[in-house]
Amino acid sequence: MNNRIPCKRGKTWKNWANTLSAKPQCIFYPKSQDDLIALVKQAKANKKKIRMAGSSHSWSPLVPTDSYLVMMGGLNSVTPYRNEKGSFVTIGPGATIGKVTKKTTQADMAFPTNGVPFTLQMGGFVAAGCHGTGWEQPTVPDLVYAMDIVLASGEVRTFSVEIDGEDVMNKVRVNLGSIGIISSITFKIEEMFNVHNVDETVPLNQVINKDDPSMLKNWVASPDNQYLEMMWMPFNGDTPAEDKIFIKHYKRTDKPLSRVKWGNYFFELTEPVLGPLFSLIQTIFIQLRPSAIPKMSKNVSQLIPQNNSVVPVTEALHYHKRAFRTLKISLSKPPYENFIVGDASWAIPIDEDFGNITTALCQIVDTVYDWAKDGKYPVSVVMIRFLKNSQALLSPAYQPAGSNVHTCFIEFITYAPKAHFEGFLNLIAHKLWMKMNGRPHWAKQFQDLDGIFPYLQQVYGPEFGDTLKKFKAFRDELDPDGMFLNAFVERIFSTQK
Ligand SMILES: Cc1cc2nc3c(=O)[nH]c(=O)nc-3n(C[C@H](O)[C@H](O)[C@H](O)COP(=O)(O)OP(=O)(O)OC[C@H]3O[C@@H](n4cnc5c(N)ncnc54)[C@H](O)[C@@H]3O)c2cc1C
Repeated sequence: MNNRIPCKRGKTWKNWANTLSAKPQCIFYPKSQDDLIALVKQAKANKKKIRMAGSSHSWSPLVPTDSYLVMMGGLNSVTPYRNEKGSFVTIGPGATIGKVTKKTTQADMAFPTNGVPFTLQMGGFVAAGCHGTGWEQPTVPDLVYAMDIVLASGEVRTFSVEIDGEDVMNKVRVNLGSIGIISSITFKIEEMFNVHNVDETVPLNQVINKDDPSMLKNWVASPDNQYLEMMWMPFNGDTPAEDKIFIKHYKRTDKPLSRVKWGNYFFELTEPVLGPLFSLIQTIFIQLRPSAIPKMSKNVSQLIPQNNSVVPVTEALHYHKRAFRTLKISLSKPPYENFIVGDASWAIPIDEDFGNITTALCQIVDTVYDWAKDGKYPVSVVMIRFLKNSQALLSPAYQPAGSNVHTCFIEFITYAPKAHFEGFLNLIAHKLWMKMNGRPHWAKQFQDLDGIFPYLQQVYGPEFGDTLKKFKAFRDELDPDGMFLNAFVERIFSTQK
């Protein structure tokens, strides 16, 4: 079989952020479903375990293995189609968001919600339960209509809404790579639509005000803002009261396109220019002089443009005006390859009055400013995204079907992952997230938090639908010998404290 599927030995795998590495016994680069079947059979015969890697963009150790590692990039076909049931796209799991966006746009179709960067592979994005934004939108795995998976038996099983129904699909959609190798995914998407997109920078205290949570609610749950995300770069003013927050909000419109010529240059430049630039700044300034962070934050935040235009939804979702020009650069070789950032994100169920999210955000702002007094700058950017919820059992945004609870993903990005980031994450996780029944984003950094594994048992436990146990029972039936587990995923499913 090794004649057909290249297997590299002695190679080190690293994640995108260079924070994780592994030395698999063999790294495979399959090109077809037949390759995957042959590979699983070989693993079975040799009693090997298998893990899959998409674009390796995760910060948690979902991928590392010392056994067989399968790189999925060779299965990257994209086929949009329509039938009487709607608009669909069938992809190979290694297709990137960029390739899928390009092909669906050419077919005049669009995902109603999606991840931002073009370089992420859709298989990993779905398996890890990833999300975009949109107040009434689910997570991206919820759009999965059918999925082919090569199981531990070597059999290919098609799971689909039509054959299996939603209950089974909700076990399959978010799976952390633990039930088999996804060889194909079909998403139910939409015909292309335009949105009225506004990018603006507003005073922080006009959005997040601890005495008045309705301010945040008015922004986020307003019918004028079907999609809304926020980005706060600390210290862009000199005090929290002077800080501003960037808000991107958009809604569907029948109006014709009205693009702003230079409006999105900041984001267009992020991948090819600002990524390497930040990397340089990080290396030179932040490691040597953390006190440079406020000044840098102030300068960078001033570059963020205002924008008010009608664009195809894909341009708003991916922050790109001329998406495909940048795509060419991104796909050939992501220029930010060595742009090391730390990232942690949690899904928080939003209280009806937004009181819990407002309180949490105010405490985050205060804590960041307090730590700065001691010369500690653990966070460079806070991204805040709002969406509905997910019915996938393992989704961090899980709510039972019909629930009206919406979800806020709060994400911390740091240019200096080693300096104080972990201490800050531990503090916030215990002081806020765990008290708010939050769940960590599976692909982001959470693995070293104190008490995280027992906490996962609790927050996916009987009080919240017992979804971890239900998923595990389903998984164990398909893969009784644990072929598709690594130590980290096994620990997530283990009931031992
Ligand atoms: C720059 C950047 C931007 C990001 N933006 C977002 C965002 O907008 N929204 C968001 O939610 N997250 C975001 N993330 C996090 C990212 O989406 C996750 O890391 C996601 O898992 C990426 O997919 P990947 O292909 O890199 O997955 P990997 O890290 O390679 O793998 C993730 C998981 O998927 C499994 N997997 C991969 N392929 C298969 C397959 N074919 N079959 C079965 N299992 C498989 C792996 O085994 C692993 O468990 C971002 C990360 C970075 C670095």
